[in-house]
Amino acid sequence: MLIIDINKAYKDFKLDVNFTADREVTVILGPSGSGKSTILNCIAGVAKPDNGRIAMDNDVYFDSEEGHILPIHRRRVGYVFQSYALFPHINVFKNIQYGLNNYKEAGTNDEVYRFAEAFKIEKLLKKYPYQLSGGEKQRVALARSLIIRPKVLLLDEPFAALDKRTKQILYNEFLEIKKKWNIPILMITHDEGEAQYLGDRIIRISNGCLINDTAL
Ligand code: ADP
Ligand code: MG
Repeated sequence: MLIIDINKAYKDFKLDVNFTADREVTVILGPSGSGKSTILNCIAGVAKPDNGRIAMDNDVYFDSEEGHILPIHRRRVGYVFQSYALFPHINVFKNIQYGLNNYKEAGTNDEVYRFAEAFKIEKLLKKYPYQLSGGEKQRVALARSLIIRPKVLLLDEPFAALDKRTKQILYNEFLEIKKKWNIPILMITHDEGEAQYLGDRIIRISNGCLINDTAL
C-alpha cells in the first residue's frame, strides 16, 4: 500500500493531503492549480514535501521526522509526466532505455525491444519525439516508465492531449496494463467520464485539500 501524508507550501498555495492507495487505479480529479501534479511530484521525489511521510509497503520514500529522503532513482516509481516530457534530442530507443540507467537489475537493452514490442512501437525506435503522434508519444512514455518495473505508477493527464479515437484505443490498452501490473496506479485527469471509466476510486482535490474520496 502507498501511504501519503504530506504538506507543502508554495508562495500562494498550500497542499495538505493524507490518503492511501491500494493496488488499483486511484484517479485524482480536481481543477487546474489544485495541487494534483505536486502530489505526484512528491511521490516521485521530484519535489520535496515540507513535512510528513510517504511510504510504499516497506520502502519509506520520505519521512520528515526521521529526516529521511530516499533518492528518486531508488524509489522505483514510474512517472508519465504531463505532456509526456520525452527527451527531444534522443530517439525512441534511448528514451525507453533511459529508465534502465539507474536500475541495472531491471534488465538489459533486450528489455527495450521487449517493451517496444509490447507497446507496438518497435518500428519507431529510431524516430525522434517530434516525429511521433500523440498516441505514439504516450506509448513511448508508458514503456519508459514501466521498463524499470516500478512499484508505483504515476500518470499526469496521460490522455489529455489525444483525439477521441486515439483515446478510446488507449483507454482499452490502459485497462490491460492495469490488469497486468499489480501495483498502485495514480492517475490525474480533468475528465469525469474518463475517471469513471478507468478508475477504481476517485479522489477529489480542491485548493490543496482532499474533499471527497469515492470507491467505484
Ligand atoms: P495541478 O496539477 O492541480 O494543476 P500543481 O500541483 O501543478 O496543480 O500546482 C498547484 C499550485 O502550486 C499552483 O498554484 C502552482 O502555481 C504552484 N506550484 C506548483 N509547482 C510550483 C513550484 N515549483 N514553485 C512554485 N509554485 C509552484
Ligand atoms: Mg498538473
